Amino acid sequence: MGLSRRDLLKLSGAAAAAIGAAGCSQMGLGPDEEEMTNVGSVGVGTEAALPKTGAPRVVVVGGGWSGLTVAKYVKKYAPNADVVLVEQRGEFMSCPVSNLWLVEAVELDFLIHDYLQAARENNYTFFNATVVGVDKAKRTVMTSDGDLTYDYLVLAPGIDYDYSGWTKDPALERRLRTEYPAGFKPGSEHLTLRNKVLDFEEGNFILTVPGGNYRCLPAPYERACLIADYFKKEGIEGKVVLIDENDDITIKAEGFHSAFEKLYKDYIEYHPGTKIATFDLDKKEVMTDYDDVIAFEDAAFYPHVRGGKILEVAGVAKDSIFNKMEADINVLTYEVNGHPEIYCGGDVRPMGFSKSGNTANTEGVYIAKRIAAKINGEEETPWESPLTICYSAVASDPVLAISINAGYAYDAKAKRFTFANVYTNETWDGRVGINNGRGLMEWAKGMYRDMFNA
Ligand SMILES: Cc1cc2nc3c(=O)[nH]c(=O)nc-3n(C[C@H](O)[C@H](O)[C@H](O)COP(=O)(O)OP(=O)(O)OC[C@H]3O[C@@H](n4cnc5c(N)ncnc54)[C@H](O)[C@@H]3O)c2cc1C
Repeated sequence: MGLSRRDLLKLSGAAAAAIGAAGCSQMGLGPDEEEMTNVGSVGVGTEAALPKTGAPRVVVVGGGWSGLTVAKYVKKYAPNADVVLVEQRGEFMSCPVSNLWLVEAVELDFLIHDYLQAARENNYTFFNATVVGVDKAKRTVMTSDGDLTYDYLVLAPGIDYDYSGWTKDPALERRLRTEYPAGFKPGSEHLTLRNKVLDFEEGNFILTVPGGNYRCLPAPYERACLIADYFKKEGIEGKVVLIDENDDITIKAEGFHSAFEKLYKDYIEYHPGTKIATFDLDKKEVMTDYDDVIAFEDAAFYPHVRGGKILEVAGVAKDSIFNKMEADINVLTYEVNGHPEIYCGGDVRPMGFSKSGNTANTEGVYIAKRIAAKINGEEETPWESPLTICYSAVASDPVLAISINAGYAYDAKAKRFTFANVYTNETWDGRVGINNGRGLMEWAKGMYRDMFNA
């Protein structure tokens, strides 16, 4: 099952929207490049063409799992607020469940959702533009389509990649980004990776697991299982070589180890506690810090992550104990230190919570409650724990999955968070009688409903 014409139209629609947001001048397109250059810069420094309501305005930057939730629930708890969601993409594409799409086990339709529907059903404004700066003194966000003033600002831009642990050479970094993208940001990277998997003929397919608190701890192991599952099913003489900086599988270890062992013994080669020391992309070889040389036919190299670049541009980023340039916030209120009118949520948070969609969603409801309380002149909600519910598929036909369900507790004396009420189900073979595969799909549908429906 290749990409249908409908799928291609959808993806080209998303690309067209991205081009619009980026400004045509940057793309070097069109008949009159000079004129296009001016067109591309028209937005910055002018007022965005949005109606003024006079109501307190909440600008939410980033229409991912965090931003969509905050926008919906601020409007729900403070109906008089003027909520504007600014997102650079034209359509939403889900990272959760995307590993199943990589191996043709779900349709693209399942992952793609309509921002205008979310805005329409939840009564806020969707503004399709890229945020390029924040003037905190003037409470203004600068976008590719004009400036927006705010009373409250929420920055939820998700992750960017940090290749500095592998290389300082821009040419190598560019090649890694374009030829072997990580596939941990939605859109083009996923499409590249899918084509790599579907076109694979034989040999080693390298995947890596970074250190730090990277986006979605189980996803690289889930991806390894599903690609191995695909090779096995299609009779491809391929092997997933999984190079993991961590000393062991970072989450749901029992379930993944048993899947590696029982389902994919000949298809997954796991290298824990191993870093890539050097890349030779021309020879298609990596050398590990144990001096082992591993040849590969294809790969997706997942580097460390950092907070989305716009945090740094806005001057609200600092290094956390896990990653570079994450949000400089009060970890209980999500307010930027020194700027209580600015909030950061989702995968940019510096706390050690799981960087996952369910976490971003439940946390987003809490952030929304706090902003709404300020708008309504009410007492602010005390800290509420986000909830991490995360399913991982280990096989695709039928979908077999393992799961974790966890909250967090705050130790005020030690000033740190710990996991609380953790429940895992790591028996993918159905021994406990729960169909986790169906649970995965139902969880995803429920999340999309929450973000896109009233
Ligand atoms: C392969 C994979 C599998 C996963 N599986 C699961 C799973 O099973 N369960 C789970 O709970 N989580 C899963 N996750 C994790 C989940 O996708 C993330 O934790 C979640 O997307 C984080 O939400 P966010 O809002 O912080 O960031 P995102 O969802 O990435 O949203 C950020 C948004 O901000 C926009 N943006 C960034 N900068 C700007 C700017 N300057 N101007 C305008 N817009 C901007 C981006 O375009 C993006 O849409 C998975 C992730 C991956 C990659």
